[in-house]
Amino acid sequence: MVSHPLLFDLGASPPTTRDIATLVRDGGTAALLEAAPRADDARYQEVTCRSALNAVKGMPFNWTLNPYRGCTHGCHYCFARRYHVQFEMNADDEFASVILVKRNFVEVLQRELDHPSWARELVALGTATDPYQPIEGPYRLTRRTIESLARSRTPTGLVTKGPMIVRDKDVLADLSRSATCTVYMSVPTVDEEAWRQLEPGTAHPLQRLRAVRELADAGINAGVLMAPIVPGFSSSRSKLERTIKAIADHGARFVGCNVMYLQDGTRTHFMKFIEREFPSMRPRFERLYAKKYPPEAYREEIKGMVAMLQQRFGLSRREEADGRAELKPRSEREATQVGFAW
Ligand code: SF4
Repeated sequence: MVSHPLLFDLGASPPTTRDIATLVRDGGTAALLEAAPRADDARYQEVTCRSALNAVKGMPFNWTLNPYRGCTHGCHYCFARRYHVQFEMNADDEFASVILVKRNFVEVLQRELDHPSWARELVALGTATDPYQPIEGPYRLTRRTIESLARSRTPTGLVTKGPMIVRDKDVLADLSRSATCTVYMSVPTVDEEAWRQLEPGTAHPLQRLRAVRELADAGINAGVLMAPIVPGFSSSRSKLERTIKAIADHGARFVGCNVMYLQDGTRTHFMKFIEREFPSMRPRFERLYAKKYPPEAYREEIKGMVAMLQQRFGLSRREEADGRAELKPRSEREATQVGFAW
């Protein structure tokens, strides 16, 4: 392996994400000599963050929290892939195999939550990474984040595909009592073939649904996001029906859905994946995704079908269940994110 001299003295605290970006720009990810390899074949680079709460615009929440960056779940459609370029890394393998761990995240967050100006606005946890990807097991940054949010009585929405979340049902229940807490388990489909093809590093969809049941049984407002529904993989009526029935059978308090959108590095990665694994589908995807969203008529058709199935299986829509706006952009076309924190 080529070795690159460190450009700074690591000292007692890990480098900042800016340091990491500089290192990678000059020497590729091979320059991350401190990134610890683990048995899952990913490398984990500890970093120091300067802020934890990240302001966003055009969303139904004003703040996001992401204790990690990159995600070993490696979903091919993941919209967060495109953000990995902030660290000079690619949206392909490096997104799923070089994970940044913000070691001082909870201490920084606690300081921000303790500040007199903190107005306890809704915070979304896990928007650019999965807060319950495997590395959360040893680091427990997400658990400690939830404890801080509960102490500061901050209302929170949490999105994940990780059944590990059941480990933290005690602190989620604390947060539910001190403020509000909604868990959005992402289960786009229960179709095994689509799961294996699209979400290679995730737990089985039924394992995720069992986690929803356990959380709901513990009194936590837990439901499911079928997000994203991927045309040609999980969009058929029979697959939607099986998925919504399974969601209802597992006691989810609500369900919501989104159809996949493709932008920047995520688009490039997804199209390369289709070209490599399913070349015959490429022309269809190119037609359907001439823009970042499929045509509105297509999206409305899917959403209409989901709404009809929700009604049939007695499931609430998520905005009814959590008593507020949906966790999606107010205007999907105009939503702008003001860069995720690092
Ligand atoms: S689990 Fe979420 S953050 Fe992780 S790769 Fe999949 S979609 Fe992206």
